[in-house]
Amino acid sequence: MSDEPARLAEGMTAVPRERQRAENHVCEHGGCGLRAPFGFARPKQKPHWFCLAHRADGDLYL
Ligand SMILES: [Zn+2]
Repeated sequence: MSDEPARLAEGMTAVPRERQRAENHVCEHGGCGLRAPFGFARPKQKPHWFCLAHRADGDLYL
C-alpha cells in the first residue's frame, strides 16, 4: 500500500539514511561524545542523536 518505511514506534520518525550520513552527529548523552548513528525525532522537531550505548536516552524525546 505504501512506500513508507516501517514505523519504529508510535510518534517516532526514522531519520532518513542520507541525512545520517551527511552530518557528523555526536551523542548527546552528557560526557559521551561518541559518534551517534541513532536519530530520534518527533515530527516538526529537531532530531536528537545518540550512540549505540545511549540510544535508550532517545526515548525521552519521543
Ligand atoms: Zn553515547
